[in-house]
Parts: sequence; C-alpha cells; structure tokens
Amino acid sequence: AGSGKFFVGGNWKCNGTKDSISKLVSDLNSAKLEADVDVVVAPPFVYIDQVKNTLADRIEISGQNSWVGKGGAFTGEINVEQLKDIGCKWVILGHSERRHVIGEDDQFIGKKAAYALTEGLGVIACIGEKLEERESGKTFDVYAVPSWDNIVIAYEPVWAIGTGKVASPLQAQEVHVAVRDWLKKNVSAEVASKTRIIYGGSVNGGNCAELAKQEDIDGFLVGGASLKGPEFATIVNSVT
Ligand code: PEP
Repeated sequence: AGSGKFFVGGNWKCNGTKDSISKLVSDLNSAKLEADVDVVVAPPFVYIDQVKNTLADRIEISGQNSWVGKGGAFTGEINVEQLKDIGCKWVILGHSERRHVIGEDDQFIGKKAAYALTEGLGVIACIGEKLEERESGKTFDVYAVPSWDNIVIAYEPVWAIGTGKVASPLQAQEVHVAVRDWLKKNVSAEVASKTRIIYGGSVNGGNCAELAKQEDIDGFLVGGASLKGPEFATIVNSVT
C-alpha cells in the first residue's frame, strides 16, 4: 500500500436473499475493522435499502451499476439520482462482467462515469482488458472524465475474476505502476499520486496480506470473499 487511505470494496454481485444479507450485515457489524481504511459494499439494488438501514454507517454503500443519464423511460435501469437518494456514495462502473457478459462498451461506460461524477457520486472505475489493449493505452482512455477527485481505479485482470487465479503481488504491482504512469502522462502528476488504484481478482483472506504490501496497491475490490463477513474483515485489515 502507498500513502493514500486504503480502500476495500465488496462486490456482492447478483447474490443473496433477505436472510443471507441480514446475516452478512450482522457479521460485518460485529467485525473489528481498522479505522484507517475506506470500506464500501455493493449489494444488489433490491437489497440496498435493507443494507442501508441495518449496516453500521462506518461502511459506505455502492451501486453495482447506474444508468448513463437522467431517469425516464429506461425499463430495468436505476439512475444515479436514485442511488444517491437511497444512500449510496459510490457506483461500480465498467466491471468486466458488464463488459463481457452484458456487452457494455467503452464509450457507454465512459459516459456513465462522467455522468455519475458530475452528479457527485464516487466511481469505482474498473479496468483490466487484455494485455495488448493495456499496452496501447486504450484501457484507460475509457475514463475521459471531468474530474479525478472522486474516482478509485480498480484493476482487475479478466483471467483472475472469480477463477481462484490471483495475480502475483509483483504482477499486480507492475500493472498498478503502469496505470499510475499513464495518469501522470495523460492527466497530471498530482492525480497520479493521489488516485487510489485497487486490485481485484480472486483476493481472499489468505492472499491479501502479500498483495497489500505492494507499494502501488491501494486496496482491493473483492467479489466472492466479500460474501463472508469475517474473511472480508481480514481483507479490510490486511494493510496493517
Ligand atoms: C470482482 O468481481 O470484482 C472480483 C474481483 O471477483 P472475485 O474476487 O470473486 O474474483
């Protein structure tokens, strides 16, 4: 971890029931979480209200997606204003499952990010394409956003998500350095040093500590292991 505040997000994806989420919330409420870490969870939309009403305020809430603009006749979508209204501080955008399973493209994701930021919602902006794309700089061009103040970048190698194959600490560190260099060249040195770059892809209670030691890994985005309260707490506390 570098000098910025460590950031750990739990992406619950399309999992859970009222009962299982109530148990997860109670496990999180009783876990001891290091004070100096930003902790965020992203429940499925339909359970956000339940989580907001029962989870300790110390943990912030994120949407897993948002509509590209104002609401209206967009069946099945949830807009940024609604996420804010229900108490979310963040939204995850550009997750590889939305890109590769649902078919969202860079341009659409970029517009969503710009809209969410303009409306004051923090964005957990996912990147993590194939290597060729990364090297050509294309990966990052997605986020041509108005301001970098409220963005956390999540680097998630596609081959590591939900597969149990975690990137080695050095592999992840190398990419995080490349992302920071890109920010330095294309945005500014200040944004490069301030922006938190978190790693995602099969992070668990056993591998988090080694990853957290890397200088440019400023936190994690966690899928599977975020559904278990005590293990998620171990990941949150891995920075110390
Ligand atoms: C994710 O989907 O953001 C993720 C990192 O998933 P997992 O931890 O399950 O690989």
